[in-house]
Amino acid sequence: MAKKESYDAIIIGSGPAGITASIYTIRANLSTLIIAGSSPGGQLMLTTDVEDFPGFGKIQGPELMQKMREHALSFGVKFLDENVTRVDFKKHPFKLFVDNKEFEAKSVIVATGASAKWLNIESERKLIGKGVSACATCDGFFFKNKDVAVIGGGDTALREVLYLAKICKSVTVIHRREELRAQKVLQDRAFNTKNIKFIWNSEVKEFLGKDRLEAIKLLNNKNNKISEIKIDCAFVAIGHTPNTSFLKGHIKLDSHNYIEVKNNVKTSVEGVFAAGDVHDYRYQQAVTAAGAGCMAAMEADNFIESLKKQIDLN
Ligand code: NAP
Repeated sequence: MAKKESYDAIIIGSGPAGITASIYTIRANLSTLIIAGSSPGGQLMLTTDVEDFPGFGKIQGPELMQKMREHALSFGVKFLDENVTRVDFKKHPFKLFVDNKEFEAKSVIVATGASAKWLNIESERKLIGKGVSACATCDGFFFKNKDVAVIGGGDTALREVLYLAKICKSVTVIHRREELRAQKVLQDRAFNTKNIKFIWNSEVKEFLGKDRLEAIKLLNNKNNKISEIKIDCAFVAIGHTPNTSFLKGHIKLDSHNYIEVKNNVKTSVEGVFAAGDVHDYRYQQAVTAAGAGCMAAMEADNFIESLKKQIDLN
């Protein structure tokens, strides 16, 4: 086995939560490694225009992430663009593995995010960021007074629908059944909003458009009829999957596999913290993730300080 490296703080994940955490840990004089993932940068790497991250006006998602990474590098944070394959939090210092390479950490911040679920059709991949999105809060404003569609029938979909109805000319909900899964209160609000329409029993067969989305081809799964609707943007809102599979059995996850936290960022293992979409399924914003990264780093610093005090007392 290769030689083991030891750090005060190891951060898993390199979206806004992980990078912000690293800037705070390194400036608190904690040696810091980010194990950034084999596709570093998180969800913003799949985003085009970002207009809601203070200080940047309008910036492309990947450019914002590059700037964040350069910021962390300028303070001496180390990056490893690999995936953590295994952890062992039973004993302190904690152990993390990237294949058979072992790392040791006095504190760990998990900031691996959550991935939006996609329909996984070819035309979707082509048009993500070009009229196909998974975040109404991020992209809705670009479709002010336009006609948009939301795919899905759960809480996520209806929250997006109600948000978009305030900005857009019309919002069409496309759902594969004729009954919504979302909470009744959200359903009532949507049914009572004039510019929200519903297309039931329908599945997206194809997103149409060469350089930008122009229309959606739908299959009615009751009568097998194909139809097309013209639309300016489609929001896929069929849920998220938190990136926590490597943590199962090592820290407490909730029934949806999000990390359970108390006091904002503390996990069930003392010294292991969580930041960003990996525990926050409600806000899911770059700026809230960055805020949680800051909190986790400050708690990691407090934790390491308390360890030092214990050693001094003994
Ligand atoms: P959801 O309730 O699972 O709803 C997903 C919706 O998307 C459903 O309407 C589903 O249709 C539809 N859908 C799924 N796959 C599809 C596909 N391939 N094609 C077309 N439609 C598809 O997810 P959600 O809306 O994100 O809401 C999650 C719920 O869990 C919320 O109540 C949220 O508050 C809660 N939540 C809790 C926690 C927690 O406690 N930690 C964490 C996250 C979320 P069908 O209705 O036909 O299945």
